[in-house]
Amino acid sequence: MATKTKWTKKELEHFNLNILDKRKKLLVEMGALKENTKIANESSITGDSTYAYHMADAGTDQGEREKAYYWLARENSYLRYINRALEMIEDGTFGICRTCGELIKKERLEEVPHTSSCFDCKTKSATKTVG
Ligand SMILES: [Zn+2]
Repeated sequence: MATKTKWTKKELEHFNLNILDKRKKLLVEMGALKENTKIANESSITGDSTYAYHMADAGTDQGEREKAYYWLARENSYLRYINRALEMIEDGTFGICRTCGELIKKERLEEVPHTSSCFDCKTKSATKTVG
């Protein structure tokens, strides 16, 4: 039996839905984070007297805001990966190892949908490029 090198339409549909679901959740999370950074920004911009009373808390606010920015940046790049995965489904390169041309394991794709190397090739190239 020849190695399967193509996903069926049904399988691709499943991945597509899975990725769209991931994206939906991500966008909700990002919306919440954006709110956080906005609120933090506004309270520091106004700089009115009420703000001075809260100087003791300023350190915490700053930390929280930085954390929100950090997460937002992370989620942003994750969103790019997700969009990339959707593009790959469109152009038929999704879930196919760029190195050996075999299908990437479903479990792996559900975790890292944008990957273009199977676990074996990824591991091999990782050991090769060390140092
Ligand atoms: Zn491979």
